[in-house]
Amino acid sequence: MEQTFIMIKPDGVQRGLVGEIIGRFEKKGFTLKGLKLLTVERSFAEKHYEDLSSKPFFGGLVEYIISGPVCAMIWEGKKVVTTGRKIIGATNPAESAPGTIRGDYAIDIGRNVIHGSDSVESATKEIGLWFPEGPVNWQSSVHHWVYE
Ligand code: UDP
Ligand code: MG
Repeated sequence: MEQTFIMIKPDGVQRGLVGEIIGRFEKKGFTLKGLKLLTVERSFAEKHYEDLSSKPFFGGLVEYIISGPVCAMIWEGKKVVTTGRKIIGATNPAESAPGTIRGDYAIDIGRNVIHGSDSVESATKEIGLWFPEGPVNWQSSVHHWVYE
């Protein structure tokens, strides 16, 4: 089963959106396989966003991510990477559809509340970085009520 890495950014934690965001993934039917609240070091944030290191917004992005605790999660389910990105919405909240997390709760691109892996390959890499201990090994007992 596919897994993705989802992170509620410091603004999402500060604004009290953790419960709302977890609820959206839970109610969809995805399974929570890892969860922790932590503040990361600058070098760790730079590693997470290393593919963006040449971008003009990289410095500000790293400052944003280290500015407070983040809620790091592993979510599991069929097509969870692509569907997770749809639940989150477009990168720029000005273009995120209403009903998406960023569409409903964000205004500026540099305060867009949440991160989600953009591919299965990135998900594997990000889960390895944030959860070196690996996912929690459990199976939801409602699995057959979600999948046919
Ligand atoms: N970002 C920004 N300015 C930009 C583009 C991106 O501040 O012009 C930030 C924004 O917080 C975004 C993050 O950098 O979520 C990572 O950018 P990416 O293109 O990977 O977007 P995402 O995958 O988060 O939608
Ligand atoms: Mg990205």
